[in-house]
Amino acid sequence: MFSYRHAFHAGNHADVLKHLALLAALQHLQHKDTGLWLVDTHAGAGQYRLDHDAAQTSGEAAAGIGALWRHAQGQADTPPPVRAYLEAVAACNPDGALRHYPGSPALLAQRLRPQDRLALFEWHPTDGRLLDRQVRAWSEQWPHARITLRRDDGLRGLRALLPPPTRRALVLIDPSYELKTDYAAVVATVGEALHRFAQGCYLVWYPLIGREQAHALPKRLRALAQHHGRTWLQAELNVGTRPDPQRKAAAARGRVTTGLRASGMLIINPPYTLAERLRTALPWVLNALRQGPGAAWRVDGGEPPRA
Ligand code: SAM
Repeated sequence: MFSYRHAFHAGNHADVLKHLALLAALQHLQHKDTGLWLVDTHAGAGQYRLDHDAAQTSGEAAAGIGALWRHAQGQADTPPPVRAYLEAVAACNPDGALRHYPGSPALLAQRLRPQDRLALFEWHPTDGRLLDRQVRAWSEQWPHARITLRRDDGLRGLRALLPPPTRRALVLIDPSYELKTDYAAVVATVGEALHRFAQGCYLVWYPLIGREQAHALPKRLRALAQHHGRTWLQAELNVGTRPDPQRKAAAARGRVTTGLRASGMLIINPPYTLAERLRTALPWVLNALRQGPGAAWRVDGGEPPRA
């Protein structure tokens, strides 16, 4: 049950999409002074070493943040949302070499203002311990930052936090979908969250894989948004498949997996600037991360039905 470790995947193309969207939404919401409740229901370990075994073995970060980092060097046309994301990654790498990757808790912690709060959930025993250590370090580094960590189920924990007293919240829901039941649990949680606090900005990451529940998830979330009269935004990034006959043959014999090629973010109550920001960022990102045929991006939005 506890086999997923984000250290193997940190900084891959899915993290690039997710963290770009997360930061762009947060930047917009922080234009107002009122305090924000930030909730990360599946936080992971918080920050990752890219020069250690997990990242080196999978090679996913090299093809994700590594490729984007290199692509941006000396480029004057980097779109502002990508620049903001790269600056946040650079803040974790003060000597200029890309050795650390900030997970979502690190990205959110970096931007906390005194009036904001960050609630993290992580139930993997090892990653929970690593995150606990990170949170202590951030709390020393940024004494104004109000961060809590619960090493518990984030979906159940989210319900208890809503509605937030400031009536402003940004919620990231980022399961690994190891369990098939995660899909239904996410839909049920978002449904209840909207019922408790319909104005929250909810960002849900999902994989684009050949599994019925994965295809159904964004449709079910859009339907929930419509039902509650809320706007939604759907952004997807597919890096395509590298033509590699040997790899394909090995995968057909069950020796290796072909890996995740595409993922998406379904955002309920997106800031109104987010669609445009992602439309400027994603083509540029795809140029850097493209692996081969099938590479594509899309950003679609929807309004609630008019009464
Ligand atoms: N959000 C992180 C980021 O962007 O850096 C990555 C999170 S990773 C995809 C998913 C994490 O959720 C894993 O560390 C896993 O142990 C944890 N997890 C799985 N189910 C959980 C649950 N119900 N509650 C809290 N954490 C959970």
